[in-house]
Amino acid sequence: VKIKQPKPKWLRVKLPTGNNYRNVRKLVDTYGLHTICQSGNCPNMGECWGEGTATFMILGNVCTRSCGFCSVKTGRPETVDWDEPERVARSVKLMSVKHCVITSVDRDDLRDGGSIIWKETVQAVRRMSPGTTMETLIPDFKGETVNIDRIVEVAPEIVSHNMETVRRLTRKVRIQAQYDRSLEVLRYLKEAGVPRTKSGIMLGLGEKREEVIESLADLRKANVDIVTLGQYLQPTPGHLPVQEFVTPEQFEEYKEIGLEMGFRYVESGPLVRSSYHAERHMF
Ligand code: SF4
Ligand code: SF4
Repeated sequence: VKIKQPKPKWLRVKLPTGNNYRNVRKLVDTYGLHTICQSGNCPNMGECWGEGTATFMILGNVCTRSCGFCSVKTGRPETVDWDEPERVARSVKLMSVKHCVITSVDRDDLRDGGSIIWKETVQAVRRMSPGTTMETLIPDFKGETVNIDRIVEVAPEIVSHNMETVRRLTRKVRIQAQYDRSLEVLRYLKEAGVPRTKSGIMLGLGEKREEVIESLADLRKANVDIVTLGQYLQPTPGHLPVQEFVTPEQFEEYKEIGLEMGFRYVESGPLVRSSYHAERHMF
């Protein structure tokens, strides 16, 4: 079913304006950085950038994977840019953010999966902004623990990896990923000593209520601490269509269910993205 009616009113947001917004935009342009806020056409840019926060995307802006919901370009990525960690760290410092979120494209073309650049980025941010806490939203690194360990070693305060959808829809939504492998990555992170682990699921892709609850239960079993649930929005007509606009009441119910299951934090609402209100997850 393709939904043709306009977006419900709870999904309408303010257009980005203001000085902070312009400053963030200028830094991102000056340093040639990529943000998932722009690549993902995030509806919260007005709010987040207006507060001086952004989610940096490292390892270029071309991904080796082709998830059906994601507007990041797929193809053969550029060669690794070894100056990127310094540039990201300099912008974090100039933005004087208290908590920053870093993510990356998937680099299945690299032997280390990009984990060395990841490690250097976290280290560079630490060096230049010792007071800034960090969330690293990482790929599955094909489950290779030698690469995951490089992230664990540099001790980000939060490590997240998104399931994105329920078990049944994983093949359709993230063709190169596997539901159980992602769960395994999350379980491994916690066992390796990461203080806070986090995952996110998008709703409105055709999942059923019981399937969402099953995914929440699976995440709890993997000892995940924080979960985010938000509405999927189709970035272009070539991407997976929205099957349903989930109501704010339904999001609220999932939040209650999640909290009862024992998550430390559940961010659930139509406009929630995995990096939305990320600073609040530093419990
Ligand atoms: Fe960027 Fe995340 Fe905020 Fe969206 S919610 S604007 S992706 S920081
Ligand atoms: Fe987008 Fe990440 Fe999938 Fe790449 S792996 S297509 S960046 S969601």
